Amino acid sequence: MTSLRLSRRVQRIQPSATLALTARAKALKAQGQDVVALTAGEPDFETPLHVRESAVAELKKGGVVGRYTPVAGLPDLLKAVANKFQRDNGLTYKPEQVLVSCGAKHSIFNAIGALVDDGDEVIVPAPYWVSYPEMIRFFGGTPVIVDTAATGFVLTADALRKAITPRTRVVIVNSPCNPTGAVWSGKDQQAIADVLKGTDIAVISDEIYEKLVYEGSHVAFAALSPDACSRTITVNGVAKAYAMTGWRIGYAAGPQAVLAAMNALQSHSTSNPTTVAQLATLTALAKDPEELPLWRKQYQTRRDNLVKALNAAPGLKCATPGGAFYVFPDCRAWLGKRHGDLLLKDDATLCEALLTKALVGGVPGSEFGAPGFLRFSYAASDAELAKAAERIQRFGRELQ
Ligand code: GLU
Repeated sequence: MTSLRLSRRVQRIQPSATLALTARAKALKAQGQDVVALTAGEPDFETPLHVRESAVAELKKGGVVGRYTPVAGLPDLLKAVANKFQRDNGLTYKPEQVLVSCGAKHSIFNAIGALVDDGDEVIVPAPYWVSYPEMIRFFGGTPVIVDTAATGFVLTADALRKAITPRTRVVIVNSPCNPTGAVWSGKDQQAIADVLKGTDIAVISDEIYEKLVYEGSHVAFAALSPDACSRTITVNGVAKAYAMTGWRIGYAAGPQAVLAAMNALQSHSTSNPTTVAQLATLTALAKDPEELPLWRKQYQTRRDNLVKALNAAPGLKCATPGGAFYVFPDCRAWLGKRHGDLLLKDDATLCEALLTKALVGGVPGSEFGAPGFLRFSYAASDAELAKAAERIQRFGRELQ
């Protein structure tokens, strides 16, 4: 048997923990276990009907739908994305500054690929979304993790200044944040923009949870000033706002030279994103979904109920996040305790015990650079969330 050597590049990365744990919870469910999976961040609502119907109509019509489009996406879609940025964020981008990709994750991958060389440093505020450090490592960069737990999950100017070195190429901004749900105010973001002024450091601003804000309001980093705009790649998509995770459409906009490089990278990997998904996105982006205010209200109620239930579990501490659809309780009081004969030595063991003994799926905080925390998604039905809350509380009472 030949043993094949894997590239050093791929050996630097781990599979996505969010996706792996989601698959695990689903597998247990398929075996007949009554698992409540609060693992993946995925809306439990349907893609709006008119969007699905437009895709069906395009498929029936044939023609364009079965063909390649330009790598960056259909010209009308590039215009629609530029319109969205103008309408929602006051950002003026030409269609040539837009690239449509296979999900916002792919947009971020392209952006990091276009900006990061071997040995470059990328500042990643922690807790961070699992994929940022892995993508940075894949492209030969070094993630420089800056813990924000002590400052309300907000990256302060001071902490940023201390983290910058001559090798810093990029700062990741993610508001509303996955996994904490923290929403950075305009003032918080301006403090970051002020530190970056006069440097050649880029910002990748992941704004995929833009429409899911319950307190405060969303601020697009690029909209802070012309200087901020000139260094920012703004990433967004339809997955979260339009309940379209499975369609895999994300997009990025920013300085034309960076977007051209991202386009070149994409031209050698996926080419254009699937045409029917682009056509559906064109329909979607015409306006916010009519359902959005209702979804937002439901998410907010679920958030409030879940935060209350988690804080009622002995030892858990859970802040109320302003956006996205995650809660991020501090579970450190449970570590070192026993559940039956199992010692909960860290958040990964705790998460495993919650899954196998309490049948509730979450993601360990250590996967997001925050050991001692857990992430639960509340993009699940009220009944499922009530069941999960009850089980987590019982699990807490059983600890010794
Ligand atoms: N963004 C979602 C999450 O964090 C989807 C899974 C992923 O791509 O990581 O759960």
